[in-house]
Amino acid sequence: MAEDNRAFTAASFNAYLTQEKKLVGVRCRACGTLSPQPRPMCHACHGRDMEWHEFSGMARLSTFTCISIVPVSMSKKGYGRDNPYCTGIVTLEEGPRLSARIIGVDARNPQDIKTGMELVLDLAEVDPDNPTPAFRPK
Ligand SMILES: [Zn+2]
Repeated sequence: MAEDNRAFTAASFNAYLTQEKKLVGVRCRACGTLSPQPRPMCHACHGRDMEWHEFSGMARLSTFTCISIVPVSMSKKGYGRDNPYCTGIVTLEEGPRLSARIIGVDARNPQDIKTGMELVLDLAEVDPDNPTPAFRPK
């Protein structure tokens, strides 16, 4: 993605996510550090020679929670006390972690959702008004 000169901003990240269905981050050309946050400066070496990096979409579930007291945006989609949703922290196979929706799991039975489980990116239903990466069990 070296030819891509889009600004390293949340707006660019969201456009990749919603329009191109890609999960991207930034890679430091000086030290190779990857970050899922679209920033113009490397958090490791403070260098400013950054490039976009597309993640593979493979990840593992690090931690999660199932939410039944939901924000208005999720209530409008039918989530709530009787229909919780799952969100968590995933560790990408490239190493960085990020927060994401966890879909394709039964949030009413969190005891059946296992940390460490293999996940794959699924952006089929990403909401353009509230873009969040989503992963489902592999
Ligand atoms: Zn760096």
